[in-house]
Amino acid sequence: MANTVVKIDKLVKRYKELVAVDHLSLEIFEGEVFGLLGPNGSGKTTTINCLLSLLSYDKGDIQIFGKDMSPTAYDIKKDIGVVMQNVAVFDQLTVYENIDYFCGLYIKNKAERKKAVEDAIAFTGLENFVKFKPKKLSGGLLRRLNIACGIAHKPKLIIFDEPTVAVDPQSRNKILEGIIDLNRQGATIIYTSHYMEEVEQICTRLAIIDRGRVIAEGTIDELKSNVKCSETVMVEARDVDQAMLEKVRALDHVFETSYENGELTVKYTGGKHNVVRLLNTLQNDNIHIGRVSSEQPTLNTVFLELTGKELRDKE
Ligand code: ADP
Ligand code: MG
Repeated sequence: MANTVVKIDKLVKRYKELVAVDHLSLEIFEGEVFGLLGPNGSGKTTTINCLLSLLSYDKGDIQIFGKDMSPTAYDIKKDIGVVMQNVAVFDQLTVYENIDYFCGLYIKNKAERKKAVEDAIAFTGLENFVKFKPKKLSGGLLRRLNIACGIAHKPKLIIFDEPTVAVDPQSRNKILEGIIDLNRQGATIIYTSHYMEEVEQICTRLAIIDRGRVIAEGTIDELKSNVKCSETVMVEARDVDQAMLEKVRALDHVFETSYENGELTVKYTGGKHNVVRLLNTLQNDNIHIGRVSSEQPTLNTVFLELTGKELRDKE
């Protein structure tokens, strides 16, 4: 069994009457890329800030590397790297100086620090920009600088809080690949996001949070195997009436049907060849069929079944 890196026990954080984190418990093990997935406002950043002792909280216990976390626990903090949601670098310092500054908070030895800063520059691909000031960097490069500043001191635990928001797809993939690399090199990762696709791509285990609570936890496969809906089929179809809907509803494994704006949606609890059976049924009644698609369950399906809402607002 791997060592526990982070243990959060019944954490409660209130902002006046708003309960932002509500008895949240988590255990994260060495070597994991652990996802904290939840919609905007679900309490991810607040949880991270409490975890880092950057924010006081109302109740709960937090241990990191088996020790109690506190604002002055520098022996713990030196082994943690943080990449915050909002880019936090100094405008008057160059790329190199920024990374050197943050690295210098933890590594005092000059030669060792120089090596660490250069590693971070190479890792984030900022070689050609070391003399640039942050204002001259594109959004994607700025994010990479933010990451370089957070990881240069080679921490054992690295926390990424929505590092890809408003980042172009190319930089986004680079960031995700970089996170996998850091994990391969031995770092335990906590990754918060409201993008389920990213969490599916890189996380070994995750917790889904909503309104400050963990509503589901496990590997992606474990979470998906618990959902009722194993397949959703969508068919563009003309003139589907109530009688037709009932016929579809009566097909094997169907548990829900709806028809809106010329699109028929059918949800299945299991079964094979669902699409073929559905299309045959429609054709037998001379229903005119357009585009057809089938979806396997996603983390959004998990979220939808648990909360009745979509994981994120349509963008
Ligand atoms: P997430 O990171 O998942 O988007 P946050 O942790 O930022 O969520 O926010 C959780 C809830 O707490 C939200 O309802 C948010 O509006 C509220 N909140 C966050 N920071 C503050 C603050 N400083 N003061 C008051 N309310 C806050
Ligand atoms: Mg946040």
